[in-house]
Amino acid sequence: MIQLKSIRLSDKAEAQLGKWQKEVNEQSSFSVQVALGKQKFSARNQKDNKTFQAVKMSLTEMCSGSRRCCYCEDSVADEVEHIRPKDFFPEGVFCFDNYLYACGPCNGPKSNKYRIRPNGALVPIDLDKQKELTERPDPEAFHYLINPRFEDPFQFLVLDLASTFFFTVHPNCSGDNAARATYTLEILALNTRDYLVRARQSAFGHYLARAEQYDQRKLDDPDDPDLPKFVLELGRLEHPTVWAEMKRQRDRIPRLDAILRACPELL
Ligand SMILES: [Zn+2]
Repeated sequence: MIQLKSIRLSDKAEAQLGKWQKEVNEQSSFSVQVALGKQKFSARNQKDNKTFQAVKMSLTEMCSGSRRCCYCEDSVADEVEHIRPKDFFPEGVFCFDNYLYACGPCNGPKSNKYRIRPNGALVPIDLDKQKELTERPDPEAFHYLINPRFEDPFQFLVLDLASTFFFTVHPNCSGDNAARATYTLEILALNTRDYLVRARQSAFGHYLARAEQYDQRKLDDPDDPDLPKFVLELGRLEHPTVWAEMKRQRDRIPRLDAILRACPELL
């Protein structure tokens, strides 16, 4: 998981979402806001809805490969996911900044799992495990899930490229930050789905081969007009986290380090 590109929504779609959000916010109680938000979101998040067509177009621009999920980078993204679940944060139900494009295998199990720690509290609470939430969660609460729209997951996580291809907690993280990293990995099951681990391993080999190929082509003909296109394509492949991590850890991958010294345009 990497920080997503900052992509704007069209002014028209943004204005429409704003109107819909206002309608939810104006409801008298938290429970009514949640119920109305969920009902309206399901009704409007449809193929023929122009606003959601624009939303999906902008969210697609944040995806890698052929519209890969922004969490796992592996499966096709086909669900507008609320980073802060609409069950607990009705004020984010029609908020573009609260959306990302996710796949069913990520969005399904994540569902409405969400951990916060209210301001001043000593222990976190899982909102999804509360019996009935009738009041808005503390707006000053500490949020555990790492938000790749606005935060850099690389500050919290490291991908082990040497052997396991598991994400681990960044060695600089401790306390709350380490807890956020652990919670995010658990909720998104980024290490426990074996096909994701295998896909990251295979992406590693693929990226290295592409970089070697580029290096060779540049050696053969430094003026090859296709070289810039090759660089562009490399930046659009699936599993961009693997490539970003390979660059971050290049001093441990001598072959890649040599290529990147010769071809800094790949950085
Ligand atoms: Zn996914």
